[in-house]
Amino acid sequence: MKDYDEMRHDLIKMLKELDENLGGINPEKSHPQPKESVFDAEDKVRQEIDKVKLSMESMDSDSYSQCLLCGKPIPQKILAANPFAGLCGKCSPSDDDPVV
Ligand SMILES: [Zn+2]
Repeated sequence: MKDYDEMRHDLIKMLKELDENLGGINPEKSHPQPKESVFDAEDKVRQEIDKVKLSMESMDSDSYSQCLLCGKPIPQKILAANPFAGLCGKCSPSDDDPVV
């Protein structure tokens, strides 16, 4: 899994930054904010953290580079653009190439 070393490194960095963001959102430390927006922001950061953790977990298993729908390998090109991509180019609805 040497190919993913760099990606994993990036994800760990991302996790760290997100954790720091969570600390920054803490209303007791920063300026008072409406409670709802604090929860919203915290929720978003937690979702990002979940995504990163999920990616790292799938990296450990062999499923990381496989399309969730067809099981074919996801091209590195797609993973480089979106490390969270779970679908190959053919199955991804947001593919740049129009599916005919
Ligand atoms: Zn696919």
